[in-house]
Amino acid sequence: MGVYRTHDIMAAMSIEAYFLGAKSENADSVRRAFDEILRHWFDWRSERFPDDDNVISDAERKSEKFSIENERLHTALKALCDMLLAETPTFTPRYLSHMLSEASLPALFGHLAALLHNPNNTSREVSRVGARVEVEAIAMLADMIGFNSAKAQGHFTSGGTIANFEAVWRARYRIDHALALGLVAAEKSRMPFSAFESAHMGWAAFDRLRLRDATSELATRAASSVLCNPLEIAERISKCSRRSYRGPVLITPGSKHFSWRKAANIFHLGEESLWNAPLDNEGRLDMGELQTLIEKARREDRPIIAVVSVAGTTEAGEIDPIDSVTSVLNEYRLNGIHIWHHVDAAYGGYFCSMLGSELEKILDDGRSAALKAIRLADSVTIDPHKLGYVPYACGAFLTRDERLYTASTFNAPYIDRAEIGDKWQSTIEGSRTAAGAAATWLSGRTMGFEPDCFGAFMASTINARRIFAKAITSQCKNVAVLEPADTNILCFSIGKKGDSLSYSNKRTDYVFGLFQKDPSFSVSKTVFDVENYCRLVEAHAKRHEMALDDGKLSLIRCVFMNPFLPKGEVLEKFLPKFIARLNFYAEQALELCD
Ligand SMILES: *Cc1c(COP(=O)(O)O)cnc(C)c1O
Repeated sequence: MGVYRTHDIMAAMSIEAYFLGAKSENADSVRRAFDEILRHWFDWRSERFPDDDNVISDAERKSEKFSIENERLHTALKALCDMLLAETPTFTPRYLSHMLSEASLPALFGHLAALLHNPNNTSREVSRVGARVEVEAIAMLADMIGFNSAKAQGHFTSGGTIANFEAVWRARYRIDHALALGLVAAEKSRMPFSAFESAHMGWAAFDRLRLRDATSELATRAASSVLCNPLEIAERISKCSRRSYRGPVLITPGSKHFSWRKAANIFHLGEESLWNAPLDNEGRLDMGELQTLIEKARREDRPIIAVVSVAGTTEAGEIDPIDSVTSVLNEYRLNGIHIWHHVDAAYGGYFCSMLGSELEKILDDGRSAALKAIRLADSVTIDPHKLGYVPYACGAFLTRDERLYTASTFNAPYIDRAEIGDKWQSTIEGSRTAAGAAATWLSGRTMGFEPDCFGAFMASTINARRIFAKAITSQCKNVAVLEPADTNILCFSIGKKGDSLSYSNKRTDYVFGLFQKDPSFSVSKTVFDVENYCRLVEAHAKRHEMALDDGKLSLIRCVFMNPFLPKGEVLEKFLPKFIARLNFYAEQALELCD
């Protein structure tokens, strides 16, 4: 894949208008916006009920007590601001550490404007405007990932972790609805029963069976593992299926985020039922392994809560073959087996803004097809507080349609909650801020999540990673770049020719330690364990002629999220400095273990 001139990619858009800048270059624009937001906030109050009297009198505001307290307030605020000066400087192009950069101006302004009004999106009663902004912002994200925004549903969460939990919550309910109905029917008819087949019967078969048997809601409820004692229901399932029922499983790729393990704990699944699909030698979900696991679940008669694929892994930004997962699950569907597909696009969802244009070409073969298939998933996690450049805490959960969204309850799955507008029944979180929705809304309205705007920006970050990778490969003798890299995250290990993996790991850890003590560039570290990344670790060791004598691969990790680093003139300054620093440290690391 070629390296592009950033100028060519970014031709359509002025990214300079959308961020404050590492030297506060856009301070005037920010001041103007903050003034505007404050003026609106003040007027909102002072003009609202013109007949009401002030609740704070001039005399009170001039009292000594007031002025002492007011002084205390401002002194403490200054102390806090002073403290914050020591905060991690994530705004600079020198910051390459984590999935974090500076927030965009539209996101900051939207966040602040909503924050001051402080609506609670749990219900329209306490969020007349915030709830509407949320619906519109979710529609923007839905359009970006290719969902039909007229049908798609969703809401903002505090992050990707909770958004992933939202998926498990629904998907588990979904199999429970079907399993309970199937169990009641089987107990009545004494026909052969399979928990797997019953749980995956799909909505159409579910509706048919419900009408045919006129199963009373009471009977179905009394067969639900969610509503009743799951051990007792398991006994009934065992009796009916004539084998010991061991409960459902959740299939995730080996590259999964830690939140999936948390989900297993929280939803009482037992980590045994979190099935890891091993990765291929490029670090992506292996399709053969996935099919083996689905068949294993079928053989053991264990329903699959969901198959999870990842768009933009947390470690290396890899994109799973989502299109192939979709085809495989579609095959099952044609045979009456409906399995929930969740795409964890917490990091990579925003790369969909590049789709449908020339920009796709910057992606490696097959990656744009994978991103395009997200639109066929049942549910998706996206984190605006990562590549959306929105302030924390802002994640989003979306489903392809209403029925998938409302699966998280036993009550009236057909109620059109979109019409009611109250989300509190269908969100894991109770009270919810509107700030993230407003930040996303204003970003969509200004930067636009289309190819000629946000898409070009995303492509420029991928290009920056590519330029760094190329420079390291050609100019750093003792650095081994991890290939392939699907997006804007760059990983590399340190070592000299003939090193074994364990020596290389020591050198990489040592160089990371040197970077940690050095304020000039901030990078992060990740470790690929052989359990999950066996084939990728082998491929990396083979490519760089390392003997495999360790169970892990240590990597230094750089996330290219800074909006200005891809600019030619900025890159020209920082790239040589980074290369020099890396070579200097790698040199020192070579003296280890000799
Ligand atoms: C970051 C991330 C998450 C978790 O998101 P939070 O917002 O940190 O809770 C989940 N999945 C993936 C792939 C991620 O990169």
